[in-house]
Amino acid sequence: MRYVNVAINLPVKNLFKQFTYALPAQFGYIGAGWRVIVPFARQTTEGFVVGEAGSDLPEPEKYKEVQAVIGTEPWFDGEMLEAARWLAEYYMCPLAEAMRLFIPGKSSIKRHAVYDENGRLLYYELENRLKEKMQYCYAITESGSVALAEGCSRAKAQMAALQIMAQAERELSAKELEAAGVSAAVLRTLLQKEWCSRREQRVLRNSYAGNNTLKQSFDLTEEQVQAVNAVSKAITEKRQETFLLQGVTGSGKTEVYLNLTAKALAKGRQVLVLVPEIALTAQIVKRFQSWFKGCIAVVHSKLSASERADVFYKIRNNEAQILIGVRSAVFAPFTNLGLVIIDEEHDQSYKQEERPCYHAREVALHRAEYFDIPVVLGSATPSIESYYDAIMKRFKHLRLTGRPNGQPLPKVQIVDMRKELQKRNFSVLSRALQQELVRTAAAGEQAIVLLNRRGYSTFVMCRDCGETIMCPHCAVALVYHEEGKAMRCHYCGNTMPVPEECPRCHSRRIKFFGTGTQKAEAQIAALPEVKVLRMDQDSTLRKFAHEEILNAFSSGRYNVLIGTQMVAKGHDIPNVTLVGVLSADSMLNMPDFRAYERAFSLLTQAAGRAGRGDKPGHVILQVYDADNRTVHLAAAQDYDTFAEEELLRRKELNYPPYAAFLKITVWDKKEERANGTAKEIADFLERQAKNTDAEVFGPFAGIIGKVRDLYRVNVLVKSTQINIFKTALWQSPYRDMKNVYFDVDPFNVL
Ligand code: ADP
Ligand code: ZN
Ligand code: ZN
Repeated sequence: MRYVNVAINLPVKNLFKQFTYALPAQFGYIGAGWRVIVPFARQTTEGFVVGEAGSDLPEPEKYKEVQAVIGTEPWFDGEMLEAARWLAEYYMCPLAEAMRLFIPGKSSIKRHAVYDENGRLLYYELENRLKEKMQYCYAITESGSVALAEGCSRAKAQMAALQIMAQAERELSAKELEAAGVSAAVLRTLLQKEWCSRREQRVLRNSYAGNNTLKQSFDLTEEQVQAVNAVSKAITEKRQETFLLQGVTGSGKTEVYLNLTAKALAKGRQVLVLVPEIALTAQIVKRFQSWFKGCIAVVHSKLSASERADVFYKIRNNEAQILIGVRSAVFAPFTNLGLVIIDEEHDQSYKQEERPCYHAREVALHRAEYFDIPVVLGSATPSIESYYDAIMKRFKHLRLTGRPNGQPLPKVQIVDMRKELQKRNFSVLSRALQQELVRTAAAGEQAIVLLNRRGYSTFVMCRDCGETIMCPHCAVALVYHEEGKAMRCHYCGNTMPVPEECPRCHSRRIKFFGTGTQKAEAQIAALPEVKVLRMDQDSTLRKFAHEEILNAFSSGRYNVLIGTQMVAKGHDIPNVTLVGVLSADSMLNMPDFRAYERAFSLLTQAAGRAGRGDKPGHVILQVYDADNRTVHLAAAQDYDTFAEEELLRRKELNYPPYAAFLKITVWDKKEERANGTAKEIADFLERQAKNTDAEVFGPFAGIIGKVRDLYRVNVLVKSTQINIFKTALWQSPYRDMKNVYFDVDPFNVL
């Protein structure tokens, strides 16, 4: 009898162990990487076989048996298993949880109990929850060809159908035949006569089908050629090397990606292209489609589990050679990966903030090492970490310094909003921005107005005592929404009517405070000639809403697009000549060590939206602190100076990339208990910190101290030897506690 070790796929936080099961003879063919069904704690559940436990173990009655096998081949190959093991160890999560990232849909199997007539449990029946969509496909047979050649004047319809099948040189689906005028009755007759064959085939859904953008081709610039050559060499030699492709917005990075992808495809290999968000995916997908038509599969964050399964199927079977997707696409079952491209590599969305808190760039780099293939990280404003790796020569630095069509970068103007107040302008729009908006609209051009989510939400506040109406389940203020005239919690979704009186002082003078997107929209809409369109979380909840909004805007029906961060990213609309940023410096006041980096990047990205066509761009940054260094460097689009100064500051304070952070979060219904556990952990870490350079912070309440009635308390360690702390926690009882979570290299330290 063989025995295997199985990682149990249950979303239980503290299941770090693997379990040994006996493998009945009929499953003798399986091994590591297979998905199986096993009995576990009085139920049956899915497990992943992770290795052999030996044969003929003593006390065989101790082990339960594997009950069933899922699929006809192992899901995990050696590379995926290795990547999952690495991820679990590096990000401090159970192996099963890491492995779960690699399967489409967290729990793809459903089982139901089957009982006999006396109500006794017989067995569990498994059912694939990911419904595979099937269709019939038809092809002409040999006798069909003979019949067609002989011809038959009485069966015109049948002959016509055979003619269509013969010309197609491939199987045709019932739908395609119907469209060609072949009726179901004719098909039935042909089948009866065995003049055609029928086969059931899986339909692979493709939400991005039917796009016919034409391929543009240019002569690459000198810098583009150098970049393409450098990476091509690594593709050809099939060796791991990481390239940082730093190029201002519009400098032709995407054009480089396209050329490199063509190189990898020509070598018969697959390409993974990671992009930050769906808003961005649409445009890059169109560019790729114009080059590579049917070779592309897409993973965006609103795919259903079944659609995701289809995408993974195509990649595994090499039916698609290019995968373009958001961070979770990094787990696709590539068998023949040849190149990884990460666009906007600095983007925050590559880091998953729930467990397992992985960073897609790190996972990609790890997989690339295994496959021995190059990785291209592209950005106008690289993460400080990647920039550091480039100047330390761990990454090869490639630069695109200008725009290929010789366009100048936009002219950036900084407007001091304190002066506006002195001039008794109380609008959220400075006079300069108002004038420019009107001028742009009158000239038939377009504008984008960006405002920061933070500080711009509409809170509901009592004028007499200053009380803000908070969500009863989360430690955040409720946000007023014009649609529905209600307040909503952006953390738990709870909606409440605006109270008639203040819950604290019973005053009836309740006021909406702050300027949300909706309010700014109203002020802009009041300007002459302006037709404004809003894009924010509320307007983009539906699938593709982003794309629809961007399409509506680029069609020219509107001339001002207003919204939060998402309007700043990626898209390329040539008619946009003006970009305004309201409260451009508000982000700088965030108490987070990445605040400057984030602000710099957002402002540069936003500015980069202006003047992408032949007309020059103009950018207005409205600020309260007009002397701010970061704002000035962003206005000058001087990334290198910013990065050098930021690195000096980080070095002085021993921040990443010079040291690493590890964040421990304790959740509890009871605030005291959360604090108690966090204090224990902080003390434990303090003891490990002796004789190291480490600093332990906390316990302190999370920036949102309570979500869905659970209090959050954090402890933070910063050290150049972070592994000491990871190992200590891994071996401690805290690892197994259900309400203790680790975030390795956290993006937000608060
Ligand atoms: P990025 O990805 O860096 O923002 P893109 O690749 O989107 O830049 O290029 C910006 C614009 O310049 C696009 O409209 C693109 O078609 C065009 N472009 C790119 N490379 C060239 C080139 N070598 N010659 C002329 N135009 C180019
Ligand atoms: Zn009050
Ligand atoms: Zn809430």
